[in-house]
Amino acid sequence: MTVSSWWALLARSLLAVAAAYLVGMTVGRAGLVVAIVLAALLVRQLYLLMRLLQWLRRDRVDLAPDAGGAWGELIGLIARLFRRKQYHKRRMLQLLRELRHSTAAIPDGVVMLNPAAEILWFNRAAAQLLNLRGRGDVGLRVDNLVRRPEFVQYLRTGDYSVPVVVQASGVSEQYLHFQVVPYGTGQLLLLVRDVTRQAHLEAMRRDFVANASHELRSPLTVISGYLETISQDENVDPMLRGPIDEMRRQALRMAAIVHDLLELSRLEAETSAPAGEPIDVGALVTRLRSDLLARVSHSLDVRLEIETADRLLGVEAQIHSAFANLLENAAKYTPAGGSITMRWWRDENGGHFVVKDTGIGIAAEHIPRLTERFYRVDAGRSRASGGSGLGLAIVKHALQRHGASLQIESEEGQGSTFSCHFPPARLVAPA
Ligand code: ADP
Repeated sequence: MTVSSWWALLARSLLAVAAAYLVGMTVGRAGLVVAIVLAALLVRQLYLLMRLLQWLRRDRVDLAPDAGGAWGELIGLIARLFRRKQYHKRRMLQLLRELRHSTAAIPDGVVMLNPAAEILWFNRAAAQLLNLRGRGDVGLRVDNLVRRPEFVQYLRTGDYSVPVVVQASGVSEQYLHFQVVPYGTGQLLLLVRDVTRQAHLEAMRRDFVANASHELRSPLTVISGYLETISQDENVDPMLRGPIDEMRRQALRMAAIVHDLLELSRLEAETSAPAGEPIDVGALVTRLRSDLLARVSHSLDVRLEIETADRLLGVEAQIHSAFANLLENAAKYTPAGGSITMRWWRDENGGHFVVKDTGIGIAAEHIPRLTERFYRVDAGRSRASGGSGLGLAIVKHALQRHGASLQIESEEGQGSTFSCHFPPARLVAPA
């Protein structure tokens, strides 16, 4: 309401009262006439207020009462507010509808969950992938509907940094990729993707590598065997001795690569984490140390620091392979006179096995890629020392199978530290 229309109303009212007073004076009943006029003014204002209330109650902006002056302006302003509100509401609804249509059309499944993991909403793809039923499943906990243990575990841990791939139950061999994205105040967005094709391709690749390595093993054994026999034959032309020894070395290297490839395939083929047996880490690393010292030709100081008698729950062959690879590397990349320390201890975060050397070290840019298959900092040096480039990939996989992680710290020229961190659930006190 602009001030002028209010002033006009006031002026008109005062004018009416003044006129009533004058007329009243002429008839000698000023009080009565003024009272009548005031009452009439009041009745009119009450009438207009009643119509305004009636109109507001009806919630129909198009049926605005007809009034002029200040009331008319008030009605106009209310109508404008109402229209603006309706416009924004329509726009919000339209936006919401578009948003829903676009999320519904996403080929990946999207499920909105509240902090208690109960379903608030899901799109068509999620319904199809997870077998959800229309409104019937809204409000239910998602882990009551998707019951695969890996998924339930993933949802409950609260650490969503690494997505999980789960083989769906049912006849079809379907693989689903789940990722949870927290948003808002504790709400969760669950993204589901069908990765069956990728999983099958990955399985084919694994099978191919495993089969090829397996097929190469027997011919290689034959070749190595003959080369071994020939190299021991005294009648062999001395001119051929050098090439034969080189062929033997290369055949052994190929055998080592095939052995590592097979080991990696075996580790990759396992889908669930092995329960395993309690492993006496102290005894295991003592054996590793003496095996190493019996083999290495250069002088190395290999120390053991076994600070806990706790056993490690795991598959001994895999843990042995992981620790042996780390020790082997430390020895390979530490020149004569250097030292290697193996340490096993526990704290509230779990069990830790560390191999620390005073060797050549690794430049920072290589560290993130070391566990890739065939990644070597110096390919020539690795080959010369009989490395396959698969050692750390095996370590990483063997540790992953046991819920453990590998941490690499190194400084060029100073040495390296490889730490394996096992969760507390993998530790058992000795019997
Ligand atoms: P390789 O068979 O070549 O040793 P790995 O996968 O075991 O393959 O290691 C990958 C690369 O990481 C090696 O080629 C080497 O460059 C580097 N590396 C591994 N361990 C050490 C170490 N203790 N000190 C220095 N470099 C290392």
